[in-house]
Amino acid sequence: MTRTVDVVVVGGGIIGVATARFLAEAGATVELIERDGLASHASGRNQGLLIGPHPPEMVPIAARGVQLYGDLHDRNDGAFFLDREPHGCLMVGAEDGLSPEELAEREPLLGPAVTSAAFEPDARRIDPGAAVAALAAEARTHGAVISTGVAVRELLRSGERVTGVLTDDGPRAAGTVVVAAGPWAWQVCRSTGFDVPVRGVRGWLVVTRPAPFRLRHAIEDASWSATKKGLTTPTVADYADGTVTPPAIAGLVQQDGAGRLLLGASLQTSGTDHAENQAEAVAAVCRRAAELVPAVRAVPVAELRTCRRPLSADGLPLHGPVPGTPGLVLAVGHGSQGITWGAGSGEAVAAGILGHGWEPRLLPDRFI
Ligand SMILES: Cc1cc2nc3c(=O)[nH]c(=O)nc-3n(C[C@H](O)[C@H](O)[C@H](O)COP(=O)(O)OP(=O)(O)OC[C@H]3O[C@@H](n4cnc5c(N)ncnc54)[C@H](O)[C@@H]3O)c2cc1C
Repeated sequence: MTRTVDVVVVGGGIIGVATARFLAEAGATVELIERDGLASHASGRNQGLLIGPHPPEMVPIAARGVQLYGDLHDRNDGAFFLDREPHGCLMVGAEDGLSPEELAEREPLLGPAVTSAAFEPDARRIDPGAAVAALAAEARTHGAVISTGVAVRELLRSGERVTGVLTDDGPRAAGTVVVAAGPWAWQVCRSTGFDVPVRGVRGWLVVTRPAPFRLRHAIEDASWSATKKGLTTPTVADYADGTVTPPAIAGLVQQDGAGRLLLGASLQTSGTDHAENQAEAVAAVCRRAAELVPAVRAVPVAELRTCRRPLSADGLPLHGPVPGTPGLVLAVGHGSQGITWGAGSGEAVAAGILGHGWEPRLLPDRFI
């Protein structure tokens, strides 16, 4: 028998799980369908920093996110790691930054190549995969069904209207289908006339064993925001001619409470689920990290990690109905800040579906 719910959410990353949680809390019947495990892609494998700068549209969502994560942390007795006080981040290369003396005082371990940086005081670290698990547990408490290991293969239709999804586990009927499938959103929506303008941007991160020193703040190249804007999507000719652009690097050195370092990050438009260009990207990540903090060179590596950011064509998320396809809603394209915005975005998408309006205005019809 076809199971029927108010809302099916496709994708068990931070955006899908947060959306399901807020819908269920409001009384909607919800099933979230994830083909792998919860947070098994970008949402559980990223750097875990809640950080700006934010485009103006996303400022309220980012502020709300910090509040929601703090409340979630309280309700879960601190079951996942979250900086309750800001950790701060040095944005290397930013203009109007600290004087050399202030910089040396903020972080004595910076290398001589670092001559300018601004201090971003509000940055906080979070364990993103565990935060997703905590949101999912609350969604279940509010009655949501969470199905993992089940792929959505196709949208079910009645005329133009989407009426559910066809999964490996059978059909599901729903009043609304929310596609929160990250870089794969275009695949889920491929039978509609709307080509979801979100691509995958692969990042490589290097995780070390505990280091014998402590950094006072996260350290990031301020250029990351501009780097992501400059990314191109390879054409058929680029693959034919071997002219695919190599990974770009926006340096990052971040340390957890146990002393482990997280070094990053590469950015490269990627159309494959295979972990390509590991050697090239990891070498560049490690070189840049050693320029930022020379002491990292001697620290043993524990893990090389990769995932893909879902980056939209204009860098802003898509929240809202797919034009011309009633019953289908997108919650995708959160790029490099999907954890920072995740809880607030889930709440905003749920509010839109519940008829409280689509705020901020991030509607997919801007791409028509
Ligand atoms: C290297 C790196 C570092 C990052 N660091 C940060 C950071 O410090 N701070 C920050 O805020 N953000 C960061 N991000 C960005 C952040 O990780 C993403 O924006 C966010 O995780 C995206 O969440 P999502 O739920 O949209 O997508 P995803 O986490 O990709 O989830 C989508 C889910 O949909 C599922 N799915 C796809 N197709 C189907 C289908 N047909 N059926 C069922 N399920 C399906 C997938 O299996 C997947 O689990 C980073 C990203 C990268 C790559």
